Amino acid sequence: MKFNRFGKYPIAFMLVLLCAIGLHHPIFVRATESPQVQITQPEPTSVAPESVFMSQLPSWARLVDIRTVNRNIRLDIRYATTNNFLKRKLYTVAKCALRSSVAEKLGKVQTDLEKIGLGLKVYDCYRPFSVTKQMWEFLPDPNYVANPARGSRHNRGAAVDLTLVDRTGKELEMPTPYDDFTKKAHRDYNGGSAQSRKNRQTLEDAMKKQGFIGITTEWWHFDSEDWQKFAILDISLTEIP
Ligand SMILES: [Zn+2]
Repeated sequence: MKFNRFGKYPIAFMLVLLCAIGLHHPIFVRATESPQVQITQPEPTSVAPESVFMSQLPSWARLVDIRTVNRNIRLDIRYATTNNFLKRKLYTVAKCALRSSVAEKLGKVQTDLEKIGLGLKVYDCYRPFSVTKQMWEFLPDPNYVANPARGSRHNRGAAVDLTLVDRTGKELEMPTPYDDFTKKAHRDYNGGSAQSRKNRQTLEDAMKKQGFIGITTEWWHFDSEDWQKFAILDISLTEIP
């Protein structure tokens, strides 16, 4: 006796198959899922910056211009120019502002580095929350820009992007340029020249010694280890003395 490809009972086989397909139809799936399970997660709403006047903050938490703490730290505030990954000028002034206690620590890093003939050059410090929102409008991709739903540690005045320079102000070789969002910018990247990895380590060691912690994906970014005690702010850079 010859069977067709569905076996001995073709009609029974087809019925089982149809039931199996039918139960996976969305209306059946939705009906059988637990009502607690949400199929799509709602977008988190934006965090609100702390609405506060500078004068209301204790002195250690006030935003200060780094130049009032240490004049030897060099500035290359990229978001005050079009020389950044967004090719847009986002700051009205080229200023590195940080919480006073954080700025004091960064001043100490500079002093430490000068003993070995080096110094710091900062690319970005405090970033007003409205600028983070603007960046997100231009490029809503968490791989490049902080999601305003969570805010950035730069918004807290407790993070800094920077590199090393020699006595003449020339940047030391690093694994990538600033704001290179590839794996080469990761702190554990093992490629590139040995000198670039050594320089990256020198920067990390100097920052760590004064209480800054690096993040894994950007060799240039450091958070003050106490960043959590500072709220997100939206004070304009022009208001910072
Ligand atoms: Zn950063």
